[in-house]
Amino acid sequence: HAKANKLDFVIYDPKIDQHTLETFELVNALTSAIENNELVLFYQPKLCLEKKKVVQVEALVRWLHPQKGTIPPDVFIPIAEKTGQMNTLSRWVIIAAIKQYHKWRSEGIELSIAVNISAENLKDSEFCQWLLNTVEQLKMPVSALTLEITEDAVVEDPESAIMQLSHWRDRGLKLSIDDFGTGYSSLGQLKQLPVHEIKIDRSFIQHLMSNDEDKIIVNSTLELAHNLGLSVVAEGVENLETLEWLTEHNCEMAQGFYLSRPIPEDELAQWLLSSHF
Ligand code: C2E
Ligand code: CA
Ligand code: CA
Ligand code: CA
Repeated sequence: HAKANKLDFVIYDPKIDQHTLETFELVNALTSAIENNELVLFYQPKLCLEKKKVVQVEALVRWLHPQKGTIPPDVFIPIAEKTGQMNTLSRWVIIAAIKQYHKWRSEGIELSIAVNISAENLKDSEFCQWLLNTVEQLKMPVSALTLEITEDAVVEDPESAIMQLSHWRDRGLKLSIDDFGTGYSSLGQLKQLPVHEIKIDRSFIQHLMSNDEDKIIVNSTLELAHNLGLSVVAEGVENLETLEWLTEHNCEMAQGFYLSRPIPEDELAQWLLSSHF
């Protein structure tokens, strides 16, 4: 009976019940969140270190839940990925980002936009074709749209990922490898990836000033990327010293709380006017 009791305990653990219930609720709610206009994009500036100018923003999705408040993407993106909802979610993100691009242009603000593409999207050939059609239909200049793809999305099935990425690149889209250094891609794979840019993961940048190993890693990554003809974005820049170090080491772009947190679209125009670097 000991075994059965243990099993009972596991099944009826109130904590697990609660968690399962909440996940279940989120899955159902996410389906209607888009229809109910509960999703919103925030934008985080990326600073070009040579020009000292913001040239691009990264679109980051937020879920403004009517009862639970703001739900961060780290909570609902993994659920969307597991429950087959990434296609719907990413389509919404891309359309919203392109509309925002045009709105800013009409206000005289020239910014390219980066959006995050998940591993699920990359595997979905229908989605990949939809993206190209949509960019054309909504008159988005391809060179003003960067797709950020995590290393892991490529590692799962490198051959088909490389094929898809090449297709996008040939059509003129800009491609970036996100969270670089945290996945398991080999240097050999990096050489084969048809991308323009890598984003060094913030775990290497956040403590850069106090950590000599991080300095060595970031310096070597910059050198490697530049030798391969790739440009580099450092994410997670949280202080001026790090920004200066990156500038001295020829990093192309920086992004992080020191510059700005992700902010709503209507705050960005004001931020652009008031900030000087
Ligand atoms: P990510 O693509 O690596 O985005 C960067 C995350 O780091 C953002 O969190 C941003 O707010 C945060 N961050 C930026 N600068 C700093 C800094 O200086 N210090 C610290 N500590 N954090 C910083 P966020 O917005 O919560 O997004 C988390 C993740 O959720 C993103 O990581 C991305 O993987 C995913 N995500 C967000 N929006 C989307 C989306 O539209 N589609 C997909 N597929 N994934 C998304
Ligand atoms: Ca990203
Ligand atoms: Ca990242
Ligand atoms: Ca990340």
